[in-house]
Amino acid sequence: MDFDLTPRAREHAEKMEGFFADHILPRNREWRAALDSGAHDAPFMPDLQARARAAGLWNLGLPHLPAHGLGNLDFAPLAEIMGRLVWAPQVFNCHAPDLPNMITLDAVATPAQRQRWLEPMLEGRLRSGFAMTEPAVASADARNIALRIDRTARGYLLNGRKWYVSGGAHPACAFLIVIGAMSDAGPRAGHTAVIVPMDTAGLRICRRLDFLAWSEPAAPIAEIDFTDVEVPAENLLRAEGEGFAVAQTRLGPARVHHAMRAIGLAEVVVSLMRARAAERASFGRVLQDYDTVQGWIAHSRAEIEQARLIVQRCAWALDRDGHRAAQRDVSIVKLLVPEMLQRIADRAIQLFGAMGGSADTPLGAIHSWARAFRVFDGPDEVHLRQIFRQEPAATEALADNPYLHPGAAPLGGGGSIGTG
Ligand SMILES: Cc1cc2nc3c(=O)[nH]c(=O)nc-3n(C[C@H](O)[C@H](O)[C@H](O)COP(=O)(O)OP(=O)(O)OC[C@H]3O[C@@H](n4cnc5c(N)ncnc54)[C@H](O)[C@@H]3O)c2cc1C
Repeated sequence: MDFDLTPRAREHAEKMEGFFADHILPRNREWRAALDSGAHDAPFMPDLQARARAAGLWNLGLPHLPAHGLGNLDFAPLAEIMGRLVWAPQVFNCHAPDLPNMITLDAVATPAQRQRWLEPMLEGRLRSGFAMTEPAVASADARNIALRIDRTARGYLLNGRKWYVSGGAHPACAFLIVIGAMSDAGPRAGHTAVIVPMDTAGLRICRRLDFLAWSEPAAPIAEIDFTDVEVPAENLLRAEGEGFAVAQTRLGPARVHHAMRAIGLAEVVVSLMRARAAERASFGRVLQDYDTVQGWIAHSRAEIEQARLIVQRCAWALDRDGHRAAQRDVSIVKLLVPEMLQRIADRAIQLFGAMGGSADTPLGAIHSWARAFRVFDGPDEVHLRQIFRQEPAATEALADNPYLHPGAAPLGGGGSIGTG
């Protein structure tokens, strides 16, 4: 087993580290100020995107487009670097929800759909959203879809409501991939996925949503109403009843990419803990001299290393076997990585005291994002179910299990326990 990066990944990671240090981190405060003043993107974004393209750091998360992308394993260290700041992935056209939408369109779009929607996205000219979750039904169960789709002479008519559509409230969002249920389909029929341009009559953004202290600044979240929204037949993705397959094409990579970025965030949190613990003193000692604080930092380091390994293993399995075969690995990553980040962010908030919950640090937002990550793209419990279902069934009655010693004497022949 070789834990080294491949030469291609190493070359890109070195380049990206340099780019991050030279062009991204120094502009983080400028980015914050632009958003605080009400802008949706920092004015310098197009310039940074042009620089990233020129540096060959563009569209790296699209494994099936050889001119651009890397495999998941090679992409992991790059996603980790860009994941350190919420707005950085957009510089490289590797941000959610557009990256998984591009992966989906690359897999399922017709040539005409590719030309109209995917090609401009690859250029960074179009933004998009993915609308599956609904306020009216428990969307952890992907079979629950209330939005109705009816056939018309021209195409399809949509009626219903979606919410928590990441990116849907961004003014540059040009279209949504919407999952709905055909009105005339039986209860066992699959759902249907269609492309809905944001400027279609009857589509209305009802409000912008947050999650705790997380406002999804780079991809603002929307609740969206669809009343008699009609789209042409050529906007159907794959075939009627195949919307679930379209959603799965998207959700696998989306989950793993988020996990890769989460490790970058966890590294930021630990570096902040380290700096604070070295500077802040109480009861005559700097905080890092206390065992408790050392334990927080050491545990966090151990948990990051563990998380990185399972993410890399999952990325390797995705590259080798595809999403269907790697489903259990994806669920394990989706379960463990958000928990890891939430724990580490919680320790950091404690270490920073009041400042940890203020907007002067990113800790509150990171904690809220980690908490949200335990819900979006399938809540913890759904992934636990997936993992449990792939556990091998018991092959024999417990009484016949050779690991048991029925009727054995207590260990040590029944003598007293202990040394005293
Ligand atoms: C920040 C954020 C961004 C999001 N972005 C998007 C997006 O872009 N597009 C989109 O479509 N959706 C998005 N979502 C929605 C997200 O995917 C859903 O919230 C998630 O799938 C859960 O659905 P629900 O909210 O309806 O919860 P419900 O289905 O109502 O589930 C609630 C809870 O019930 C429990 N539960 C459910 N099933 C089981 C079970 N089998 N066993 C045990 N317990 C169970 C779990 O604890 C679960 O958290 C986003 C959510 C957040 C918070």
